[in-house]
Amino acid sequence: MKRMNILIPDVLSEKADIEAEIFGSDADIIIGKATSHKDITDEIWMNCEGILAWDVIDYNAELISKLKKCKVIVRVGVGFNNVDLMAAKKKKIVVCNVPDYGTGEVADHAIAFLLSLCRGLPEYTRRLMNREWNRSNPMVERLDKKVMGIIGLGRIGTATAMRAKAFGMKIIFYDPYIKDGVDKALNFTRVDTLQEIAEFSDVISIHTPLTSETQGMIDEKFFGLVKKEPVIINTARGPIIDLSALEKAMREGIVKSAGLDVLPVEPSDDTQQLIVDWENGEAWIRDRLIITPHCGFYSQAALLELRQKAAREILRVINGKRARNCVNNYYDID
Ligand code: NAD
Repeated sequence: MKRMNILIPDVLSEKADIEAEIFGSDADIIIGKATSHKDITDEIWMNCEGILAWDVIDYNAELISKLKKCKVIVRVGVGFNNVDLMAAKKKKIVVCNVPDYGTGEVADHAIAFLLSLCRGLPEYTRRLMNREWNRSNPMVERLDKKVMGIIGLGRIGTATAMRAKAFGMKIIFYDPYIKDGVDKALNFTRVDTLQEIAEFSDVISIHTPLTSETQGMIDEKFFGLVKKEPVIINTARGPIIDLSALEKAMREGIVKSAGLDVLPVEPSDDTQQLIVDWENGEAWIRDRLIITPHCGFYSQAALLELRQKAAREILRVINGKRARNCVNNYYDID
């Protein structure tokens, strides 16, 4: 039987035992530990049939032209902006990603923000560190019957909404791109405008991709429409919220609190005043903001799932089956 040549060029430095279990004994797996494509010989690039690509190397047209036997590149992750999709398609290479390895984790993270903020945990914790034993806490809210507004009812948005529903919350959502009937199936209420999300929600959780349409979508105009001093949660992408507008809304008390796993600039720097004030423990923002380092997807189980799914996708394509998550229109007829 012909042996498979699989290349894992970057990031992975340990043994590829997870991948080896999926490929079986017929595969030769090369671990490149490369930080640039030049760290790997042209011969290796030329002979590999499948590439498990992490995010360090740029798969530009020049690199893709070196690939002579490659059938598939799988991005071990969600984003694929480091791969020239069309150059790959022209070389008859399928490009795939793994879009769903951390869905449950990100939804849990959004709910962790919600529970933490609405149970006042930052404030209690801070006070107790000063031995201040006191129950009264302006951050605490009863969740039952509160309205959760979901922006983007895809995988993570739905998983978050289902969790919030289990806490007795009412779910409304804005997502112009999903088919009618999802609202009926899930017993959520669909709204047709962002304005309705702003007006009716006690908690607003963002789950859209970053696109030209969603960049800066949550801006001063949006905050001008909110009515219920909502909690804002963003586990999607930082630039979807205009951070200066959020700062203003929080200063004015229009927004009660916020949980941010993602920021326009990551890691944060001195340009993001809201974060600087929070870092400095300024009284106006203290206890009202939780920030985490873009780790919503993270768990050991999610990383295992990611590597397994990426390897299975390679195997599928090399065995002549259709990829599940092709991102370069390989199967479309031009
Ligand atoms: P998905 O593609 O399943 O869902 C995205 C939804 O957003 C879709 O239903 C789409 O119709 C909707 N949408 C697109 N444009 C919209 C718009 N202008 N207004 C309203 N809805 C819009 O994606 P997903 O797997 O649920 O992931 C959602 C986002 O979460 C990702 O795009 C990514 O940015 C982010 N993410 C973050 C982490 C993390 O660690 N924090 C991990 C994975 C994904």
